[in-house]
Amino acid sequence: MKIGFIGLGNMGAPMAQNLARGGHSVTGYDTATISLQGVGSASSATEAVDGAEVVVTMLPNGDILRRVAAEIIPAMQKGAVFLDCSTVDVDSARAVAEMARDAGLLPLDAPVSGGVGGAQGGTLTFMVGGDEDGFEKAKPLFDIMGQKAVHCGASGNGQAAKICNNMILGITMIATCEAFALADKLGLDRQAMFDVVSTSSGSSWSMNTYCPAPGVGPKSPADNDYKPGFAADLMLKDLRLSQAAAETADADTPLGAAAMALYAAFVEEEDGAGRDFSAMLPRFSGRGRGS
Ligand code: NAD
Repeated sequence: MKIGFIGLGNMGAPMAQNLARGGHSVTGYDTATISLQGVGSASSATEAVDGAEVVVTMLPNGDILRRVAAEIIPAMQKGAVFLDCSTVDVDSARAVAEMARDAGLLPLDAPVSGGVGGAQGGTLTFMVGGDEDGFEKAKPLFDIMGQKAVHCGASGNGQAAKICNNMILGITMIATCEAFALADKLGLDRQAMFDVVSTSSGSSWSMNTYCPAPGVGPKSPADNDYKPGFAADLMLKDLRLSQAAAETADADTPLGAAAMALYAAFVEEEDGAGRDFSAMLPRFSGRGRGS
C-alpha cells in the first residue's frame, strides 16, 4: 500500500519503519527534521498524503491533530483511510472523524498501548473506533505494527477505551504503591506482601506484571531506578484526558480525579517528571500522614 505517515517521534518513527519493512511504500513527514531508513521523506504534510491509500498520524495532542487534519483532509484521495494512532481527547477524535467522513474518507481513531518497546517490536495493541470497512482496510497494517487490534465501535470509542483503561491503571498503581508504603511501615516484608497480594483479591497488572517495588516480582522499571517504561508525564496526560471526558459526559469519577491530582503534583511540583509512573512508591515511602 502507499502510506503517508505524519509524526515521526518516539512512537511514529519505529511504526513507520515497521510498515516499510512490511513491504509498504511509506512517505513520512514531521515538523522536526527526521530521516528514517526505508521511509521516504516529504517536505510538507500535504505532500506526504498525496496519492496515499492510508494516512497514519502519530501526534502529541488533539489540538495538533485538528490542525494537521484540517490541512491534509482536502489533499487526501477519496476512499483513503485516515488512521490516527495518537492519544487525544474524545471530542477531537470525533470532530476529526466527522471532517474526514464528510470528505469521503474512512476515519479511524486507533490509540495504542505498549509504549516505545511495543512500537519498535511491532507488538502494540490498537483500540479502534470507526466504521467496519475502514477497520478491515487497516487490518493488515495493525498486524504489522501490533499484535492485537480491538474494534471498539463508532468513532471516538478507541480513545474512550484507552483513557478508561489508563484511568484504571493510574488508580491501581497508586493503590499498589500506597499499600506497599503502608506495609513497609507495618513491618511487612515487600516480598511477602507481593506473594500474598499477587495471588489474592488485591492483585492487578500493577502488582503482578509491573511491580513498583525493586527486586520484587518480574523485572520492571523499578529495577532500573524507575527509568520509563511508561513515564509519569504520559500517565498524567491520559488521566487529564479521562477527566476531560468525564466532565463532558457528566460521569462521576472521584478516584480518577484523585489519581490525576496526585500525578499532577508528582510531575509538576515534585520529582516525578521523566520518571516511570511506578515511582509513586518511593514518593509514598518518603511521606508520613501529614505530608
Ligand atoms: P513524540 O513527541 O516523540 O512525537 C510526536 C512527533 O510529532 C514529534 O516528532 C513532533 O515533531 C511531531 N509533530 C508535532 N507537530 C507536528 C505537526 N504539526 N506536523 C507533523 N509532525 C508534528 O511523542 P510520542 O511519544 O511519539 O507519542 C505520540 C503519541 O502517542 C502521543 O499522542 C502519545 O500520547 C501517544 N503514546 C505514546 C506512548 C509512549 O510511550 N511514548 C505510548 C502510547 C501512546
